[in-house]
Amino acid sequence: MTHRLPGMTVSQRRSADSGWPGHVTPGDPAWGYVPHSANQPAPWTVRKISVSEMNNNVYLVTSQATQAQILIDAAAEPDNVIGLIESQSSRLDAVATTHSHWDHHRALTDVVQRYACTSAAGVADAAGMPVHPDLKLQHGDSLRAGDLKLKAIALRGHTPGSTAFCLSAAGSPTVLFTGDSLFPGGPGATQTRKISRH
Ligand SMILES: [Zn+2]
Repeated sequence: MTHRLPGMTVSQRRSADSGWPGHVTPGDPAWGYVPHSANQPAPWTVRKISVSEMNNNVYLVTSQATQAQILIDAAAEPDNVIGLIESQSSRLDAVATTHSHWDHHRALTDVVQRYACTSAAGVADAAGMPVHPDLKLQHGDSLRAGDLKLKAIALRGHTPGSTAFCLSAAGSPTVLFTGDSLFPGGPGATQTRKISRH
């Protein structure tokens, strides 16, 4: 099923190759998720692109009421990341980084400089980030932007400060952004020694 949202083609589909919904590879159009409710409009949308030789997922959450936006993992290819952001709103409020591995923040400096937005990451990974986080998150902390709220869930293991971000709103499904601790459609990496190359 394909939906067209302002400024971009967004597809909701299940990949025949991967068997899980929302699979994209670098160069694909963004995939988008719009929660449906019979009684109220969607409070937010989630869009995703894949970037770089590492096939990193970059997610963008956009409030439908305020156009506030939070990016999760400015992984690489800043021009493509900025294109994703600008496809819906010229505003970016915050960037949340799931963990400090090099392939998850190669576009972070460019994005933070362009939008002067808040950066956030787990406190134990803060020292490994190219941009020192404005918010050094502990388990249970919240990252807020407009009417959006992501709750931080500490997932120590992949890295000491690995953090999942939980997006929820009344009447909508809960969305969990897990970084490399849980891969879409497969097990993640929860031991630092095994995944040191990521
Ligand atoms: Zn990693």
